[in-house]
Amino acid sequence: MATKRQARQWTAEAWRVRALELCEQSTLLHTPRSRGADGQGIEVYTVPTRTRQGHEHVVRYQAATGTTQCDCVAGSYGAPCCHAGAVLAAVAQRTQACSPAAAAATRDYQTWCAWFERQGA
Ligand SMILES: [Zn+2]
Repeated sequence: MATKRQARQWTAEAWRVRALELCEQSTLLHTPRSRGADGQGIEVYTVPTRTRQGHEHVVRYQAATGTTQCDCVAGSYGAPCCHAGAVLAAVAQRTQACSPAAAAATRDYQTWCAWFERQGA
């Protein structure tokens, strides 16, 4: 009796970890190129394929949910892939790079608020 192959059920965190692992095992770290946003909260990236030189996969990243959708074979089955992992790594790096500036801006704002309150306005 033939058994139908079931798609593996992933938790969001396990999916993310596996995609990042696949990215580390590939040579795709730092390769995603931002192609802008589609106006519906989805950022579009292209990532080179590992096997066909000059070809790219399109990975859509939804910032609100932190999820990705890749057009490669694994991605079309909802499985983690190195392309999605490369985009997740790029987004994580960008977030880390932005954090100190965002933290400094918040500190400046709080300092200004405290100063304003001391003026007894
Ligand atoms: Zn992919």
